[in-house]
Amino acid sequence: MTLKTIAGFDRIGEENAFAVLARANQLAAEGRDIINLGIGQPDFRTPEHVVEAAVKALRDGHHGYTPAVGIPPLREAVARRTALTTGVEVSPESVLIAPGGKVTMFAAILMFGEPGADILYPDPGFPIYRSMIEFTGARPVPVPIREANTFAFSADETLSLITPATRLLIVNSPANPTGGVTPRTEIDKLVKGLADWPDVTIMSDEIYDCMTYDGEEHVSLLTYPELRERLILLNGFSKTWAMTGWRLGWSIWPDGLFDKVRKLAVNCWSCVNAPTQYAGIAAIDGPQDAVTDMVAAFDRRRQVVTELLNQLPGMSCVTPKGAFYAFPNVAETGWSAKPLANALLEEIGVALIGGPDFGVHGEGYVRVSYANSEENIRRAIERMGAFLSDRAQQQRAGGT
Ligand code: PLP
Repeated sequence: MTLKTIAGFDRIGEENAFAVLARANQLAAEGRDIINLGIGQPDFRTPEHVVEAAVKALRDGHHGYTPAVGIPPLREAVARRTALTTGVEVSPESVLIAPGGKVTMFAAILMFGEPGADILYPDPGFPIYRSMIEFTGARPVPVPIREANTFAFSADETLSLITPATRLLIVNSPANPTGGVTPRTEIDKLVKGLADWPDVTIMSDEIYDCMTYDGEEHVSLLTYPELRERLILLNGFSKTWAMTGWRLGWSIWPDGLFDKVRKLAVNCWSCVNAPTQYAGIAAIDGPQDAVTDMVAAFDRRRQVVTELLNQLPGMSCVTPKGAFYAFPNVAETGWSAKPLANALLEEIGVALIGGPDFGVHGEGYVRVSYANSEENIRRAIERMGAFLSDRAQQQRAGGT
């Protein structure tokens, strides 16, 4: 029997990265040697002092409900970190603690999405943006993210897509899945243009804010006071402190929206589990060596990945400037992106994600996550090289 639910559930999507992970795990369980370059989570352990803080919190009896928006010392810690990383003072009262970064996009899209509304989002981009927009019945308007622009977003192109129907603009830098970082000049231009559209709210997903390379700066939209009253800033602990499974994120909300999201929290998740919130305080206030070391390791691997991918037949890879993803162009391999990703997993045990899983503008690319050891990255790319050469040879033989 199929029960009738609201139409949104016929439109809601998901993240194919989880399906690829499940398939990779299944193949590994069958005894195959699988190298996973598909997953978007650091391959490092959560720093020990962070784990200890959670254990201590439980031992100290912190296992009950907390305020729905988070415990005050964690909200204060987030405000301190924000001042440190952006130079902007925010009130702890505008900080929401949520179970993951994803929850902020869920809340923001739910707040602005409805039939008749347009929501702009990056394509290729994190797949949940589009999925949630479609769930609400709003019209998803993709903002193309282009290789020719080294995967930075274009202010002009973004502004050209805004209309009186636009309610929410989603931006993401450093970006998943491309590793693109948008420079200050472009962000300045976007903010200037947004002055003509005062009714558009902006959600800036800055969850990879501490992962930029080659001296590239991360420019937070929070540093533009003219946006403050219509900016939702998404951030979290998953990537920076290797805490994906803890489910802990934060966001900074404008005064006019905070009470609405507080009520959503009360209605939905009540609070993040208490010990995890204490772990969050330790993550922010404790030593940052583990973060520095992790980002340095990502930087080294990034250089290896880019160099090796560029040697593969038919592949070319823009040097990523942020996050922990490379997004090579595979158009010249003769493969479409998804069949290629599928063949690489099934035939040579290398898991990565086809670009179309991040939007229509992802066709012709695959996402390679370098959250894996340098040795595994080298082994994986070697296998990919042999696979592509074999196939090219077979094709040539077949063609003669
Ligand atoms: N935003 C972006 C751009 C991401 O890549 C991710 C996770 O992959 C998230 C948000 C969600 O993070 P979390 O796991 O904290 O919900």
